[in-house]
Amino acid sequence: MKTLTATHVKYYHLCHRKLWLFDRDVWMEHTSEAVAAGELLHQTAYPQRAERYREISIGSSKIDFYDPQRKVVHEMKKSAKMADSNIAQVKYYLWLLEQHGVENPTGILEYPKLRQTQPVDLTDEDRARIPLELGVMKVLLADDIPCPPVINKPFCKQCAYYEFCYVAE
Ligand code: SF4
Repeated sequence: MKTLTATHVKYYHLCHRKLWLFDRDVWMEHTSEAVAAGELLHQTAYPQRAERYREISIGSSKIDFYDPQRKVVHEMKKSAKMADSNIAQVKYYLWLLEQHGVENPTGILEYPKLRQTQPVDLTDEDRARIPLELGVMKVLLADDIPCPPVINKPFCKQCAYYEFCYVAE
């Protein structure tokens, strides 16, 4: 099992099978295409952004756009369809920042294509929940745990592992 990252947290909230495949470095061609599309969005949506904010590594995770003056994490996404997992990812960043001594960080989810933003805060409930979820993830990703079953959700068709899950089997 790899060291847990924000991507693990995001996938935990999306699909445990996706989490398991990601952790075991199962990559599909579509996975790298989706990653490339995400990187392109980061490079082109806000051209001045790289000068205004900092990329920081914290724990085993990387925050692409952090405003150290205001203690705000900016996380950009292509779509709001997976809003719950996007929020979970940003909350994890906020939790990590707090674990490293940053007081009261906040987050903003940005959807440039939709011209929408969503504020994200860390609550006491989140502070209690996140360590428990990390523990559950470690159990799910233990060496002897088999790949979880497919979840048959509408968003599976947009998932990079769709062919692996539904065509290859
Ligand atoms: S296609 Fe569906 S079941 Fe398979 S990993 Fe993706 S979200 Fe999970």
